[in-house]
Amino acid sequence: MGVPRSTLITRIGELVTNDKGQGGFAAIMDAALIIQDGAVAWTGPASRAPAADSVVDAGGRAVLPGFVDSHAHLVFAGERSAEFAARMAGRPYQAGGILTTVAATRAASEESLRANLRRLAAEMLRQGTTTFECKSGYGLTVADEARALALAAEITPEVTYLGAHVVPPEFAGNTAGYVDLVRGPMLDACAPHARWIDVFCEDGAFGADEAAAVLAAGRARGLGARVHANQLGPGPGVRVAAEAGAASADHCTYLSEADVEAIVSAPMVATLLPGAEFGTRHAYPDARRLLDAGAVVALATDCNPGSSFTSSMAFCIALAVREMRMTTQEAIWAATAGGARALCRSDVGHLGVGASADLVMLDAPAHSYLAYRPGVPLVAAVWRAGRPAAGAL
Ligand SMILES: [Zn+2]
Repeated sequence: MGVPRSTLITRIGELVTNDKGQGGFAAIMDAALIIQDGAVAWTGPASRAPAADSVVDAGGRAVLPGFVDSHAHLVFAGERSAEFAARMAGRPYQAGGILTTVAATRAASEESLRANLRRLAAEMLRQGTTTFECKSGYGLTVADEARALALAAEITPEVTYLGAHVVPPEFAGNTAGYVDLVRGPMLDACAPHARWIDVFCEDGAFGADEAAAVLAAGRARGLGARVHANQLGPGPGVRVAAEAGAASADHCTYLSEADVEAIVSAPMVATLLPGAEFGTRHAYPDARRLLDAGAVVALATDCNPGSSFTSSMAFCIALAVREMRMTTQEAIWAATAGGARALCRSDVGHLGVGASADLVMLDAPAHSYLAYRPGVPLVAAVWRAGRPAAGAL
């Protein structure tokens, strides 16, 4: 069953391309787009569109680049709805809650982990996410971390080794011993499956020196660095990320002036994860401060069973606009091109000629509807690498 060589999508009410030299939101009204061999071959006004082998009539709907979710924890077993309910009733969130999922994940079969991972990936795709990152971090043994990463690598190239998520119970009181494992034998087993290395640099997880040592070991094995930084309080995470040459500092909820300067001058992406603040009832990160300082901001879900069990980029966009004072254009850019920047990808997150034809068609005439109509399933159709991947069109 082949796909036509070229497909014209025409009568697009608003085509978000993000196709502008230095980055930034860009869109074409009353537009058309041609897909050829899995890539974007042409964009412009519908009235000037060249012919193609097949035609899709968008009927005035908006078309956006597929969402790029640059931060997700999808290899796990079990769920923590009772913990969420208790938290909403007043109990505070602590990093140690992760260990509940670690126990369930270690006990799970490979088949059940694969099934859960693929169910979540399909859920993301239906909601317009065409590129996603996936971390380990619920195994915390050599074998369990390697298993998680091998599963993730089956379905995404953006695989992140997060052995330094929390200190597992068998290393309680011996963080140094666990760090040696993470940067030694565990790294040896995990590096072949991964593109990135990440560390949770936070009180209750890993300190500055430990985080730096883990990142340095990963870099020496060719892995790119990213850091869970400054989520639960002020701390050294952003500084450690900048010093390690990280692509992104993620969370960035509690930032000093020096942290903001470090993000801008590194430069590295500040990836904001408002689902985590929603799910822990923390204050949202100050996106306006970062944007006004000139930082590159990405939005991602942090999809995980503890602090942020959403796979919806649309939900994160709505939170960013309503709660973090991002404009609708800034939020869409952050959820597409911003995520691509956080993953050092130039082929996704925009619809310039040559980009991967990863598209989301909304059941709405404009990108702003994603925040204007929160909670409404607005994704009408999804294409990935030029092929229809979800939806009825
Ligand atoms: Zn995370």
